[in-house]
Amino acid sequence: MTSTPEPAGTPAAAAGQPLVHLGRVNKHFGALHVLQNIDLDVAKGEVVVVIGPSGSGKSTLCRAINRLETIDDGVIELDGKPLPAEGKALAKLRSDVGMVFQSFNLFAHKSILENVTLGPIKVRGLKKKQAVAEAMELLERVGVATQADKMPAQLSGGQQQRVAIARALAMRPKVILFDEPTSALDPEMVNEVLDVMVSLAKEGMTMIVVTHEMGFARKAADRVVFMADGQIVEESDPESFFTNPQSDRARDFLGKIL
Ligand code: ADP
Ligand code: MG
Repeated sequence: MTSTPEPAGTPAAAAGQPLVHLGRVNKHFGALHVLQNIDLDVAKGEVVVVIGPSGSGKSTLCRAINRLETIDDGVIELDGKPLPAEGKALAKLRSDVGMVFQSFNLFAHKSILENVTLGPIKVRGLKKKQAVAEAMELLERVGVATQADKMPAQLSGGQQQRVAIARALAMRPKVILFDEPTSALDPEMVNEVLDVMVSLAKEGMTMIVVTHEMGFARKAADRVVFMADGQIVEESDPESFFTNPQSDRARDFLGKIL
């Protein structure tokens, strides 16, 4: 079979440019080279699971994409544009790139409903009534609408994390980063959060998910990226990665978590 080679210099345009692009990204913390020549493209609608030992740079990678961390060199682009450094453009970036952390991070002194309406009112400029209507719809979607008037501490960890997902969605993000969203949860609450994430994935949300939950990766991931010591060591589809890892480091890591 013949295939037409792409002309040199043509961006990967046929399938559209990647939504998230990292090229040769480097980051140091003092002497520690925490991100080493990271190249990563995430297409619109793609779900990428990032897996790897503690300390390998996964959280730093997420934080860099949200510009909670600066990088030393290389490029990070969202929708073909470099991440803005400051001002309104940075606030817009933070709403375009949703983030769900391990430790829920809800506003402790605001109700569940206020947690979800605050961003849309302040950043998207919605009227309160509209923000409440959208928030209730999202809370319904993640299964916690009946808890809307409660305070975060009155909810279980699994419920709080689902609120955190609703709060991220309320900003209408282009991509959501999940940094070990279930690792602080009691085991019986892990699935209720993963189920919400699986349905988001199926609905076409672009997601970068740091997790060791193999079940999630198998159900929802298009690609698994394995990181160790600041580098992307290998990447493949979830089935190949889990059944036939190529590197010693991945084999060693999987031997420890499975
Ligand atoms: P992971 O999420 O894969 O566990 P991290 O990105 O959190 O890894 O951290 C990678 C390395 O960078 C670790 O050795 C960690 O101690 C170090 N590190 C993370 N954040 C900072 C920081 N703000 N200052 C100094 N070192 C940091
Ligand atoms: Mg981490």
